[in-house]
Amino acid sequence: MLNKVYEKVKKGGAKNRVNIIKVNTSFNGNKTIISNFEKFCSSIRRDKKHVAKFLYRELATSGSVEGGKLILQTRSPIIEDKIQKYLKNFVYCHECGKPDTILQKEDRFYVLKCEACGARRRVKL
Ligand SMILES: [Zn+2]
Repeated sequence: MLNKVYEKVKKGGAKNRVNIIKVNTSFNGNKTIISNFEKFCSSIRRDKKHVAKFLYRELATSGSVEGGKLILQTRSPIIEDKIQKYLKNFVYCHECGKPDTILQKEDRFYVLKCEACGARRRVKL
């Protein structure tokens, strides 16, 4: 019984599950477009609504997700910095620095759980 659990943990730990892809950003007039937005969100295993909400708030703008793209109603040269900020706050483990984490809602809070080292941290949205 215990051996089985141990094997499972060992296998899970050795595999690199999260492969974060780079966002493709471009401008169209006064809009900023992330053409691979949905793919990016699935690469970090996060809800696209959560990522979009974060970007709207950080850039003080609105936007929409259409056909896998995110279209922001502002021309933002700092979009990639904001993506990095999202990764830092909601993806990378603050203990071991790995992106093998999950974001889970617990009561009124979100908790970032690391599958690599087991660390847990409450995060503010
Ligand atoms: Zn960790």
